[in-house]
Amino acid sequence: MNTMKADVVVIGGGVIGAAVAYGLAEQKASVVMLDREDFQLTASRGNFGLVWLQGKGHGMPRYAQWSQEATELWSTFAEKLEDQTGIPQYYHRTGGFEICVGEEEYSKRSKFLEEMRTQSLTGTYNCEMISRDELQSMIPKLPLGPMVSGASFCPHDGFANPLHLLRALHQAFTQLKGQFFPSADVQTIEYNNDGFLIQTNTTRFSTRKLVIASGLATTKLSALVGIKVPVRPQRGQVLVTEKTDHLFPFATGRIRQNADGSFMFGASHEEVGYDLGTTNGVLQDIANHALAVFPTLKNLQLIRSWGSLRVLTPDQKPVYVESQSCPGAFAVTSHSGVSLASIHSSYLVDWILSGQTQPMFEVFDSARFDVPVAA
Ligand SMILES: Cc1cc2nc3c(=O)[nH]c(=O)nc-3n(C[C@H](O)[C@H](O)[C@H](O)COP(=O)(O)OP(=O)(O)OC[C@H]3O[C@@H](n4cnc5c(N)ncnc54)[C@H](O)[C@@H]3O)c2cc1C
Repeated sequence: MNTMKADVVVIGGGVIGAAVAYGLAEQKASVVMLDREDFQLTASRGNFGLVWLQGKGHGMPRYAQWSQEATELWSTFAEKLEDQTGIPQYYHRTGGFEICVGEEEYSKRSKFLEEMRTQSLTGTYNCEMISRDELQSMIPKLPLGPMVSGASFCPHDGFANPLHLLRALHQAFTQLKGQFFPSADVQTIEYNNDGFLIQTNTTRFSTRKLVIASGLATTKLSALVGIKVPVRPQRGQVLVTEKTDHLFPFATGRIRQNADGSFMFGASHEEVGYDLGTTNGVLQDIANHALAVFPTLKNLQLIRSWGSLRVLTPDQKPVYVESQSCPGAFAVTSHSGVSLASIHSSYLVDWILSGQTQPMFEVFDSARFDVPVAA
């Protein structure tokens, strides 16, 4: 069997692997990206498309800052991808809301923002509570439901088209001479003094650097190179309506309007293992929330729903780690792979190619999960 050589092999062609592979190819490394084509609604194909900051990083202030850096890089990142591929990203940094239904939600949200501000590395947190009247004046075309009490508003938040993002990353990667193997199921990884030998169902690859960004398979593949990265699935169900007039230029964590005029409502948080199904009860709850916020959307037909699996670490924060026993092997996983795509294609590339890291980068090491259990 022939062995193909590359400077770096990336395992996983979801939004995280593809962003890293694209950034590596931009730096003129010879890069192979392997994906086993799950033909399932992986997270990269079933997500909500938010490029989001608010609420990220509670308990890990560096992650809050990291998310802000990512949103700041997103406009340039999207423009570059559009120029390179001609695929529109529909990125809008309009600012985003978390809309509160009832007074209790409002006071809980205010308290949460105060905690984020206290924890912040800079002492500031650019996200404010706004009243119901202020909210209504920002979205005059959509009357608020009677129970809406106000919202938090973060000017950094926005959204993009996640399927266009994935397609553009794949296309830009191959345009930059990256080699994409879309039906390559990685079965074994061996390490020796020359680097790594990676065996797929069809081909063998040899490389000195290896990036494992294979979503829910990251735990299993990383273990082959001595890295412990616990990830678990969490299902999110999403609803899509028929197209309508452009009514909502902003987004909330649970409601947004696509460029074609359809609304998306989502997404649940369910611990149901690898079950990708949808359930009437959960979809009903999602629709009920949307109608409590914007009752006039009740006349829209629902046209599609799906379930997709988040890839979550135990604290739901990113993991970026290099193997100590097999140097040159890296594992990269995160929720918010859309929001962080701009940073994954830039800062992570510097780390992988030259060991250059951003301040406090070590907080993202998976060693944080190795806390001894108290006797
Ligand atoms: C309902 C929902 C809503 C979300 N909303 C947002 C949002 O609004 N904004 C945001 O930023 N994030 C959001 N996310 C999270 C985001 O989608 C994920 O962080 C991101 O898609 C994870 O990408 P990934 O590449 O790590 O994983 P995946 O998309 O799972 O991709 C992993 C890839 O690895 C491949 N692979 C696995 N094993 C192998 C193997 N052995 N050999 C070769 N290839 C292999 C798989 O085929 C797959 O293509 C959401 C997720 C869900 C489920």
